[in-house]
Amino acid sequence: ATPTALMVGTGRGAQLGIVIKGPQILESTRRVDTIVLDKTGTVTTGRMTLTVAQPVSGVSEKDLLRLAGAAESGSEHPIAAAIVAGARYRLGSLPALESFTSEQGLGVQAVVEGQLVLVGRPRWLAENWSIDLPAELTTALVAFEEQGQTAVAVAWDGQPRGVLAVSDVVKATSADAIKQFHKLGLRPVLLTGDNARVAQSVAAEIGISDVRAEVLPAEKAEIIRSLQRDGQVVAMVGDGVNDAVALATADLGIAMGTGTDVAIEASDLTLIRSDLLAAADAIRLSRRTLATIK
Ligand code: ADP
Ligand code: MG
Repeated sequence: ATPTALMVGTGRGAQLGIVIKGPQILESTRRVDTIVLDKTGTVTTGRMTLTVAQPVSGVSEKDLLRLAGAAESGSEHPIAAAIVAGARYRLGSLPALESFTSEQGLGVQAVVEGQLVLVGRPRWLAENWSIDLPAELTTALVAFEEQGQTAVAVAWDGQPRGVLAVSDVVKATSADAIKQFHKLGLRPVLLTGDNARVAQSVAAEIGISDVRAEVLPAEKAEIIRSLQRDGQVVAMVGDGVNDAVALATADLGIAMGTGTDVAIEASDLTLIRSDLLAAADAIRLSRRTLATIK
């Protein structure tokens, strides 16, 4: 009876838009008691929009958008996509990139019009490049973050030139999914590389109290391991390249169907609808399927 029940389980899973790598996954799914959620692209849509371009005095908004937009045209990060789209919308075309490198979870550095342009976490600019924002821009940046918007700093020629804010949208089903996780006895944790104020704002909106923010991509897996050391059986839901190691480390890795191939390959289970309600369905289904077998 066991193989039949498992096949029924996986067949029903396919109907719900859940693809699992094999029936053995049902067992770890059943034992999960903690669910770690990546923010961008998992809890939120990850389709970001540029909302504000605020230059320092003496710099025009056009110059800020032109140089930051061109620098970000080398990156595939959702923040970069928002900045490039916003800059193109206002300016038409953007200058060519002369060279480009990105630092995962930190920002980009590029040469545009002969200038070294940096766009990224304010702390990365401060600690790696000794470029500090003037006080009025820090105040503006904190205000954006408190509203749940991600703000990045822009510099060129060794000087701070402005901040850009991008907004993301929490998926309509995320808050409901968190309620269901609680009902299933799961402890939700929000995990993100983004700023703590932004993360807190999103967490408050959906009902999560355990927030781990400003976590570098390489540190995400370490957070999973520390929860496991505390005796927790951990599911991790993510979509990005920067989530892959954490997804593979978790007892159950769950990828969003809209996620990167790397995230999907590192996972045990994929949610075709890219909707956290499907993660709750998967856990409920595996518990029922295994109850049928016993
Ligand atoms: P998440 O965990 O939310 O997916 P990431 O680890 O990808 O976040 O990024 C963390 C932070 O690094 C961002 O909030 C941003 O400040 C900075 N960052 C990463 N990539 C870029 C980029 N291409 N341009 C500007 N900032 C970036
Ligand atoms: Mg993500």
